[in-house]
Amino acid sequence: MAAYGTDNSVMTPEAVRDATDHLYELVSSRIPRFEWDMMAPVVARINQLKAEKNAVILAHNYMTPEIFACVGDIRGDSLALAREAAKTDADVIVQAGVHFMAETSKILAPEKTVLIPSMEAGCSLASSITGADVRLLKERYPGVPVVTYVNTTADVKAETDICCTSSNATQVVEHICAEFGTDEVILIPDQYLAKNVARMTNKKVITWAGSCEVHEQFTAEDIQEMRRGNPGVVVLAHPECPPDVLAEADYAGSTGAMSSYVKDKQPRQVVLITECSMSDNVALENPNVDFVRPCNLCPHMKRITLEGIQLALETMSHQVEVDPVISARAREAVERMIALPNPETPPSFNVGHGGDVISVEHR
Ligand code: SF4
Repeated sequence: MAAYGTDNSVMTPEAVRDATDHLYELVSSRIPRFEWDMMAPVVARINQLKAEKNAVILAHNYMTPEIFACVGDIRGDSLALAREAAKTDADVIVQAGVHFMAETSKILAPEKTVLIPSMEAGCSLASSITGADVRLLKERYPGVPVVTYVNTTADVKAETDICCTSSNATQVVEHICAEFGTDEVILIPDQYLAKNVARMTNKKVITWAGSCEVHEQFTAEDIQEMRRGNPGVVVLAHPECPPDVLAEADYAGSTGAMSSYVKDKQPRQVVLITECSMSDNVALENPNVDFVRPCNLCPHMKRITLEGIQLALETMSHQVEVDPVISARAREAVERMIALPNPETPPSFNVGHGGDVISVEHR
C-alpha cells in the first residue's frame, strides 16, 4: 500500500476534513476510505499550495483518480491540455502528465513556470525519434509536409510543419496536404496512429517505426476474448493500438472521444482499450455504466503521484525549460494545430476504408 505523507504542521485533521470531504465524494467509488485517509492531507496541502502560488494542475486522462478528480484543475487529452496551457492566467503550471506534455505547455506559455513532478516521466513514442531523424526524413522526402504527433520532444516539433494529437490527426493530415497541394504526407512517430489515419484518407502516408508501449500490447484476440466473457460489451479503442485491434472495436478515438462516447451513449457495459486509469476516471462521471477493466499501465504516467505534486509545488521543481530558438520553431507547429477548428463531434477512426502507409521509416 502506498504511503502518503504530509507536513502535519500545515493543517489540523479537522481542517483537512473540511477541505477534502467534498472531494472524497467524487472518488469514493474508486478509493477505499482507509486509503483516502492517507491521501486527504496531501490533497488538502496541494490545493492550498495552488492558491498560494497561483498554480494550476493540468491532469491528463491517464492520471489516477485522486489526482485527476481531486487536485486537477484542467482535465483531458493532450489537445485539451495544450489548448488550456496556452490560455491560463496562472503563474505556475504543474503538468500531471509526461515530460513531452510539460514541454508543450512551456512552448505555449514560455513566460510561465512549468513544473513536472518527475523528470523520469517519459514516453516510448517521444524517445523513438530525434530532431536529427526528422531532418534526414525531410532529405529523403523533399517537399513532403511533416506532421508530428504531440508525443514528441521539442526538437522534433521544431522540425515539423504542424503537430497533431489523436483527436485531430486525420483533420491535420487533410489540412496540410491541401495547403501544400500534395497527396503525400510524413506522419510520425507512431506507426499505428499513422496506419489508422491512412485508412481514413486517400493520402500516401510515410511514417516512423515508433509505437506506444501501452497500446501496442493489445491484440485482436484480447478483444475477442473480452467479447466472449462479456456478451454485449461495447468496445472502444485508442488509435495508438494496431489496426487489427481497431477493426475489432465498436468505436475508436482519442481519450477525449472515448470519454464523450460513454457520456453520450451510456452503454450498459463498456471496455476502454487504453491505459487503465482512464476507465477509473470515466467511471467517476458515469456511475450507471459497468466497466470491464483490462489493465495496461503506462509506467511513465504512473511516476506522477500526489506526493510528487506536493513536493513540486513546495520546492518549485522540476522546472521545465526549452531552448528559446527551438521553442519558437516548435510553437509555430503547435499553434498551427491549435488554430484549426475544434470538431463539434469527436472524430472516429473506424469508419474508414482508405489505404495503408506506404513506408515505415527508421534510423
Ligand atoms: S501511454 Fe503510451 S503514448 Fe502515452 S505516455 Fe505512456 S508510453 Fe507515451
